[in-house]
Amino acid sequence: MNYHRKTAFGYSTQCNIKCDHCVAAEDGIEHRKIELNRAREIIDEMAAAHVRAVSFTVGEPLIFLNDILNLVRLCHRQGIYSRVVSNGFWAKTSPHSDEIVSELKISGLSQLRLSFSRWHQRHIKRENILNAAVSCHKFGLEYFISFVTDFSDTDDALERFLNDNRLKFFPEPLLYFGRAEGLNRSQVFTDYPPHLCDMNPLLSPELDMYACCDAGNRFSETNFFFLGNLKEFTVNELFEKYERHPLFNLIKTMGLSNIASFIGINASEIVRYRKCELCAKLFNSPENLKRLESAVQSDLKSWKR
Ligand code: SF4
Ligand code: SF4
Repeated sequence: MNYHRKTAFGYSTQCNIKCDHCVAAEDGIEHRKIELNRAREIIDEMAAAHVRAVSFTVGEPLIFLNDILNLVRLCHRQGIYSRVVSNGFWAKTSPHSDEIVSELKISGLSQLRLSFSRWHQRHIKRENILNAAVSCHKFGLEYFISFVTDFSDTDDALERFLNDNRLKFFPEPLLYFGRAEGLNRSQVFTDYPPHLCDMNPLLSPELDMYACCDAGNRFSETNFFFLGNLKEFTVNELFEKYERHPLFNLIKTMGLSNIASFIGINASEIVRYRKCELCAKLFNSPENLKRLESAVQSDLKSWKR
């Protein structure tokens, strides 16, 4: 049993804005949401299965403020670390921001993760993020800002805003899934990083569980990350599938670059891939996946220094 189980919890796909880079929303697909009582049952089941951290994400969770407060209180009672990922739409003014942050804090929220990028900030003023961060500081709620960027200098001014205001932020690479698939990609050159990935699992509003919260159902050629649905399996069974999967374990420990070398992709090509794109090249190709699945118990396992 793994006592460090954690999961992204997709309570709803609904969002109040429409970012051009969104990996969570799909155009033309109706929004889905878990019923509150069902979500409570799942959190109880997660607690019994030793899940120790839940991150409410996918759409904008705080559209459903009362439901999320309810679920955060339950996590707190169950000893589960809780995080909410939010675009900060509710922090238009300092008093309003204080009100929401204090409610989250009183309910037992462990951490607020604020999303920030040139795509988010077309819809939400950057001052909202500042207000929210100041409120977190005031009420003692841990927070950080996830600064999504394509690493072009277009984002320098936004980053300067975060720096000038001494906000706690971490740059995160733009993922070219969902709506972002059509965005221009600048060429990247890395220096053969291991590309290890710790693969946070995701529960979707349809109760499907995936091994990766970022790609989820995006590897449509192979459905590589799909673990099963909660209507057919228990939380514990789905986590066991995730934890025992030999290729998921190699993504975490061996890393994607070494796996790519193993199947014969030249190093000169590997250094041109972003991490998730290399992952797609390996595991969203039926041919590559078949090779890796048959090698995983033999040659691939011993491919180490
Ligand atoms: S705020 Fe998040 S969920 Fe909403 S559209 Fe933007 S990226 Fe998607
Ligand atoms: S590298 Fe693969 S497993 Fe990790 S976040 Fe990207 S798509 Fe998911």
